[in-house]
Amino acid sequence: MLLRRILFAAAFALAMGILPATAQEKLPVVASFSIIGDFVKNVGGDRVAIDLLVGPEGDAHVYQPSPADAKRLAAAKVVFINGFKFEGWMDRLIKASGTKANIIVATKGITPREKADEDGKDAKKGHSHEHAGVDPHAWQSIANAKIYAANIRDALIAADPAGKDTYEKNTADYLTKLTALETEIKEGVAKIPAERRKIITTHDAFGYFGAAYGFQFIAPQGVSTESEASARDVAKIIRQIKAQKIPAIFVENISDPRLMQRIAEETSAKIGGKVYSDSLSPAGGPASTYIDMMRNNIRQFSAALTS
Ligand code: ZN
Repeated sequence: MLLRRILFAAAFALAMGILPATAQEKLPVVASFSIIGDFVKNVGGDRVAIDLLVGPEGDAHVYQPSPADAKRLAAAKVVFINGFKFEGWMDRLIKASGTKANIIVATKGITPREKADEDGKDAKKGHSHEHAGVDPHAWQSIANAKIYAANIRDALIAADPAGKDTYEKNTADYLTKLTALETEIKEGVAKIPAERRKIITTHDAFGYFGAAYGFQFIAPQGVSTESEASARDVAKIIRQIKAQKIPAIFVENISDPRLMQRIAEETSAKIGGKVYSDSLSPAGGPASTYIDMMRNNIRQFSAALTS
């Protein structure tokens, strides 16, 4: 009898939404890849249960979703994606899953960077490369990361109004951390001589970082890892490294290191430490959160460019 009364009271409290968040069922959300997953974790805190489609060290450009992914989408209340054609496989997956979740494009409000054409001109202004495409790696600018966080906050409040105060507080705390990170990155950049701020990476993933913090990034591969670098692109970069005396080249965590090794062998550029472009490291690694990823990258860039 007593047990039944306790159970009834608990059910009543649950129904009225007066139990603390930890005792409630968490809001089931899906994040398309690890970096957005980390933003959602910071904003959602204990109120959300996050299911990642592309996990740490995964490459979302070329991901192949499984039937299990469709089930995960179907079980979600909110699905967070990057957009800017980063997850080219997502539309089909959403359709196949029949999900009723709100699909939130976390880059909403961010001005996309147009991929520069071969002559380094803005793709929009060029004549022969009008559809060079949009660069999806918007998270590489911390100012943009703040927009991701705000979009995620608004979507979580819409899906779970009872958590409004929590989401707002979590976001405010996170934005404070991002502002501190921005200062840290800018101080790191300031220590690198301006003429040495030229970096080669395998695919063109750091355009927003370069624009925000004053680096020139050059990549034999385009903004996606889908298409391979042509022999002509590689030869051009080798010439450029030699002519401009570019000191270092880097391999992103999701790219095959062999191309950079070949380029290093034919030039005097050295290979810097591993940088994280499209994906976090697993827990315990050097880039298991967005903030640690940005710190790791500036550390690796500085180490190679200031020595
Ligand atoms: Zn990428």
